[in-house]
Amino acid sequence: MARFENKIVLITGASSGIGEAAAYAFGREGAKVFLVARRADRGEAVAQRIREEGGTALFYQADMADRAQIGAMVAACVEKFGGLDVAFNNAGIDGAFNVNIPDHPEDVWDDVLTINLTGVWYCMRHQIPAMLERGGGSIVNMASMAGVKGFPGSSSYAASKFGVVGITKAAALEYADQGIRVNAVCPAVIRSEMADRVFGTDEADNEAQAASWHPIGRIGEPEEVANVVLWLASDEASFVTAETIQIDGGLGA
Ligand code: NAD
Repeated sequence: MARFENKIVLITGASSGIGEAAAYAFGREGAKVFLVARRADRGEAVAQRIREEGGTALFYQADMADRAQIGAMVAACVEKFGGLDVAFNNAGIDGAFNVNIPDHPEDVWDDVLTINLTGVWYCMRHQIPAMLERGGGSIVNMASMAGVKGFPGSSSYAASKFGVVGITKAAALEYADQGIRVNAVCPAVIRSEMADRVFGTDEADNEAQAASWHPIGRIGEPEEVANVVLWLASDEASFVTAETIQIDGGLGA
């Protein structure tokens, strides 16, 4: 199956975890993958692997905390590949967990909101005009279960991810009649460097504890999120917009 033959796909935070898994999946389905990250060595390695598998990929270095770099990123994608059809705005940081609001560090609040929320807003600000040039497109934004359900001790992350859900719906409604669909994914705990940092899932006992929160009895894999992202981005989801899909092994039920 090659659902993305000749489609130009931009992915942020593609040097690891969910973004990396999505980059390989899009690459295998024929997309021209414009993958973005801060870590050049790892980003280049992902692009190289996609090319070795017979796909098309370019790595571009950009920091989602820098609005000028975000504009330059979209312009570079249009220049190198000739346009933009799909964007997966995935880059994000975890910030502080288990720290209540009075003790929540102010610099963490600023950084998390800047990267996780304002970064996605600037991405869409530049991606939407580029997609309109091609008659439409599909945007998938990375939210979280923490963007639809309250958890104590992670107020900056919660604010950023609830915000992503909000701007996803706003953008979807602004462009629903102009061929651009905008959706968000809301994963629970997914195996990644972030999950290792926050939940210690690289240690068997901690992974077992994280697994126990999910009715399905385990944490998720990055590929399981990528599968949903590709479906949302594809024409198979042509009547789906302004939606938030929980990928959570039943946790949110
Ligand atoms: P990860 O740490 O492997 O991936 C995050 C990626 O974002 C990394 O490649 C990182 O370099 C990149 N990034 C961070 N700040 C950036 C910046 N300023 N500019 C450019 N890139 C930047 O972890 P992951 O789990 O794959 O996270 C991907 C997304 O999924 C994040 O937005 C995260 O909030 C979200 N998420 C993760 C989980 C989970 O349990 N792993 C659950 C829900 C949501």
